[in-house]
Amino acid sequence: MLEPSARVIPFNKASFVGNEQAYMAEAIANRHISGDGPFTKKTQALLEGVMGARQVLLTTSCTHALEMSALLLDLEPGDEVIVPAFTFVSTVNAFALRRAVAVFVDVRADTLNIDERLIEAAITPKTKAIVVVHYAGVACEMDAIVDIAQRHGLDLIEDNAHGLFATYQGKQLGTFGALATQSFHETKNFTCGEGGALVVNEPRFMERAEILREKGTNRARFFRGAVDKYTWVDLGSSYVPSDLLAAFLLAQLEHRDSIQHTRKQIWTRYHEGLRDWAQAHGVQLPYIPADREQSYHMFYMLLPTLNERARFLAELQRNGVNAVFHYTPLHRSEAAARLGARGDCPVTESVSDRLVRLPFYNSLAFEDQTTVIEAVRSFAPAVRV
Ligand SMILES: *Cc1c(COP(=O)(O)O)cnc(C)c1O
Repeated sequence: MLEPSARVIPFNKASFVGNEQAYMAEAIANRHISGDGPFTKKTQALLEGVMGARQVLLTTSCTHALEMSALLLDLEPGDEVIVPAFTFVSTVNAFALRRAVAVFVDVRADTLNIDERLIEAAITPKTKAIVVVHYAGVACEMDAIVDIAQRHGLDLIEDNAHGLFATYQGKQLGTFGALATQSFHETKNFTCGEGGALVVNEPRFMERAEILREKGTNRARFFRGAVDKYTWVDLGSSYVPSDLLAAFLLAQLEHRDSIQHTRKQIWTRYHEGLRDWAQAHGVQLPYIPADREQSYHMFYMLLPTLNERARFLAELQRNGVNAVFHYTPLHRSEAAARLGARGDCPVTESVSDRLVRLPFYNSLAFEDQTTVIEAVRSFAPAVRV
């Protein structure tokens, strides 16, 4: 056994702020452990206040919030939804479940976000919506994208799983689209294990969002005293998380400033520690345009080739560092072929082959980050782009 690899620095580790258990104990003491209890209300109010969003509804996951978005759009089979090819499956699957056709648009080579210059060419009379993902919590080109959506009468949805509390020209991500979705999965900046939220920015979706989330019933109106009994009024499913999870999440969100501060320090140390090495070896580091503040969700880099990435990952593993790649191109997937999705996305294919994410979590120890930076710097790619 090699001594350095005795302990592997993981890619991700669940991090806790300390109050999670006390808040969950309080939820138990309240005897309200189903959904929409006091902790859910506090958490939603916190998010609405900080984001400046009209309505935030906690959900069981970001995937489910995306499914709710697809239901709210009233998609018909054959309707088209524009999506980036470089994203997590749920961004697309939620709309495919409504039998909508995914039209994939390639990403920009600098931010890895949907390329706004390619969106209009993908619009047809069947297009209903544009879905964007703020990759790594760095905003898409929102001025251009909001303008395209408005000119073509399309709904804009933000899959903001990476970008909570990031901004574009001072405005919070998740408040640009008619709808936006958040994730509180263990791998995200703020977590309750599994969880999410739907952000509703367009008033026309507010009441129906509550109904879909409550199994298609008008239960929320009933509890407000607006109707005297609650019944089945629409489609829906069980998208309400337990107040126990909301309690856990509230503890984390109340510590948002210290969590984001820690993550900014980790990100900045990677960036400063690797900049000259990256430049010398033709490795691309993240690009953050000056008009946006990122969420410090991850630290990624692009190696020159697929082969060099494989050598790099193996080398890091030998040095006790678990670095990982990310999304595989969705337009090339088995499901996309079967469901008749379309789109040609060469940048996505190239990025997907070359991207590496370094260990990044709130409790990453200073010495462990030193180990990662040294392991990265000891690698010399054999080729340059
Ligand atoms: C994590 C993630 C999701 C899914 O989140 P869940 O809460 O696990 O459903 C969706 N989209 C993106 C871009 C993600 O990173």
